[in-house]
Amino acid sequence: QALFALVERWVPPARVPQRLQGKGYSVDRLALAIQTGELVNHYQPKVLVSSGEMVGVETLVRWRHPLDGMVYPDQFIGMAEAHGLIDALTQAVVTQALKDSAAWALQGLKCKVAINVSMDNLGTLDFPEQVTSAAAAAGVAPQSIVLEVTESQLMKDLRAPLEILTRLRLRRFKLSIDDFGTGHSSLAQLRDVPFDELKIDQSFVHGAHHNETLRAIFYASLRLAKELGMEVVAEGVEDADDWRFLQQTGCDLAQGYFIARPMAAEAVLAWRDGWQRR
Ligand code: C2E
Ligand code: CA
Ligand code: CA
Ligand code: CA
Repeated sequence: QALFALVERWVPPARVPQRLQGKGYSVDRLALAIQTGELVNHYQPKVLVSSGEMVGVETLVRWRHPLDGMVYPDQFIGMAEAHGLIDALTQAVVTQALKDSAAWALQGLKCKVAINVSMDNLGTLDFPEQVTSAAAAAGVAPQSIVLEVTESQLMKDLRAPLEILTRLRLRRFKLSIDDFGTGHSSLAQLRDVPFDELKIDQSFVHGAHHNETLRAIFYASLRLAKELGMEVVAEGVEDADDWRFLQQTGCDLAQGYFIARPMAAEAVLAWRDGWQRR
């Protein structure tokens, strides 16, 4: 079925199929989807800017709705957070991501796997424990698991999550601050959180080469991250100009449609091989 193609095609900006607009899903329907495995992980490669080598993937959840086709996370993550389903959802995503990661390793692909974590997950005290046992069960080292938290969610209230983030860090998980530049964090807040990686939001990456304002924000973020000892990822690399621009910046990693679209687990190895031969 074309809707479930291995590699994602272009999606309209609204990311909502027309027949879905205004429809919405019930909480019960989403709970059922989580239970019955209708949620599937797609993966988008993260590559080194210097060499192009693929060193990681970001896990992006999708809902393969039997009638409506592929439903994107913007349509259901908020509902999961609001109705107490996010722990179950994250658990399902983590389990699948670690399983896929272990399978890739057996096929000779060693790369980090990043997982998006909601602020509400960080309010669950045994979250570090849960991820640790999931990692152990799958035989994946915490060092190769990256947990991404968006800057805007973090800055709402840092105290409780800070404790959980610190515990995750002590267990050697990698922490990444996502959508950087859109969340208004202060320098003091950033210094207090033990992040390994900073992802510059796509709105400051795509088109930065010909826009002075974007470029200024891009470079300010890059320098800040470097001074705090973090690795930097540029998101939203959509065309060859974005990619060429990055090569002159000292940014470590890149991710975006120009490099690869999110894809099913089964497509990742073939993509990597094709990309290496490019
Ligand atoms: P995000 O973490 O910032 O993920 C990047 C989003 O940008 C993804 O949208 C990805 O498909 C899209 N993208 C990648 N490359 C490009 C590009 O070159 N140009 C443009 N315009 N977009 C690009 P997606 O998959 O629809 O996910 C949307 C958001 O949903 C994610 O934003 C993340 O915050 C959230 N999300 C996704 N999966 C999960 C999950 O498992 N758990 C939680 N809590 N949130 C998730
Ligand atoms: Ca992310
Ligand atoms: Ca992002
Ligand atoms: Ca985002």
